[in-house]
Amino acid sequence: MTFRPFQYHAPATLDEACAHLAEHGPEARVLAGGTDLLISLKQDLWRPRHLVDIRGIPELRGVLPLPDGGLRLGAALTLAEVIAAPEVRAGYPLLAEAAGSVAAPTHQAMGTLGGNLLLDTRCWYYNRSRWQRLAVGGDCFKLDGTACHVAKGVRDCYATFTGDTAAALLVLGASARVTGPSGGRTVPLAGLYTGDGKAPFALRAAEILEAILLPPPPGHFHGAYRKFRLRQALDFPLAGLAVGAQFRAGTPICEEMRLACTGVDTAPRRLPEAEAVFAGREIEEPLVEGAAAIAMRAARPVRNMASTTRHRRAMLGHLCREGLRAVRAARARELAATGDGRLGTGDPQGEPAP
Ligand SMILES: Cc1cc2nc3c(=O)[nH]c(=O)nc-3n(C[C@H](O)[C@H](O)[C@H](O)COP(=O)(O)OP(=O)(O)OC[C@H]3O[C@@H](n4cnc5c(N)ncnc54)[C@H](O)[C@@H]3O)c2cc1C
Repeated sequence: MTFRPFQYHAPATLDEACAHLAEHGPEARVLAGGTDLLISLKQDLWRPRHLVDIRGIPELRGVLPLPDGGLRLGAALTLAEVIAAPEVRAGYPLLAEAAGSVAAPTHQAMGTLGGNLLLDTRCWYYNRSRWQRLAVGGDCFKLDGTACHVAKGVRDCYATFTGDTAAALLVLGASARVTGPSGGRTVPLAGLYTGDGKAPFALRAAEILEAILLPPPPGHFHGAYRKFRLRQALDFPLAGLAVGAQFRAGTPICEEMRLACTGVDTAPRRLPEAEAVFAGREIEEPLVEGAAAIAMRAARPVRNMASTTRHRRAMLGHLCREGLRAVRAARARELAATGDGRLGTGDPQGEPAP
């Protein structure tokens, strides 16, 4: 597995980077940490003649407070930088938890937040060397082939999105700031994803993901990220689930629940039906079971990764239970620490037990 020749560009500004992408069109690709891209080049999945390295662009590297109390994270920050940022640890520990679950520390030291959010969709039949792909039946839809080796007779590509941080950022209500030759635009994070395994990102020609914008940290909020992978030390999620619950002040009652999954579909996504179970309620076991069952039904894994689809679906339910119990326990600890007598009364108004 060797690289085909390419020209390396190291622009100092975002405008310069966009200009390179515009000039070379489909022959150019953005290079960030390279932890996924460089492997894909060796596997001959893409053949760009120009790589535009964005790591030297200052706008893409900062952690900046926003006027509304939110936070701007440059897309070229490494995951290790995101995890270590005091603003992230204090205001958005859910993001630090998800970023800390990506691969292994060496990948976190090189891999970037932007690269994680724009991680190409994956499939057993695609992420292989050229000769291995030939051995399993040749190129598939994702590589301009004429078949899908996973689901026979279909017309679409079902390659799976497996980035870890996207689920956490969906729960945190993040937006994406993208910039291209004709200017910048901000879209809700979900708007970055098309749901098409072949062309999974809604970026226009020569656009770069510049930053992630987080709203102000929510009050009375607890989050958790849970992930199923075969090798605990380093592996993509076969299923991943982020939970975020905003509680009514001084009570264990959930004002708003957010759940998002990754690794079980062509795009990361929220699970609104499972979220709705908790509105104005405590996170009680029957509701936890109900939400887990909904999450399992909503998942759309296909047979394109290790483990069976049935197992991945079941594991998503398990992650959902684990995550919900974790936020419930965190809220209970917080209320106990503040000596709040209303904890665990089961009373929807949160009144103290008699
Ligand atoms: C052994 C192994 C295990 C891994 N395990 C995990 C895991 O558990 N979870 C996980 O989420 N990932 C995993 N990864 C994948 C990868 O390491 C991470 O997702 C990493 O965060 C990718 O970031 P990067 O900067 O290296 O991206 P790159 O490889 O540089 O880029 C990835 C893609 O994003 C595009 N891109 C990057 N930044 C931008 C930008 N700002 N604007 C526009 N396009 C951009 C690139 O063109 C490329 O298509 C694993 C990788 C390996 C090799």
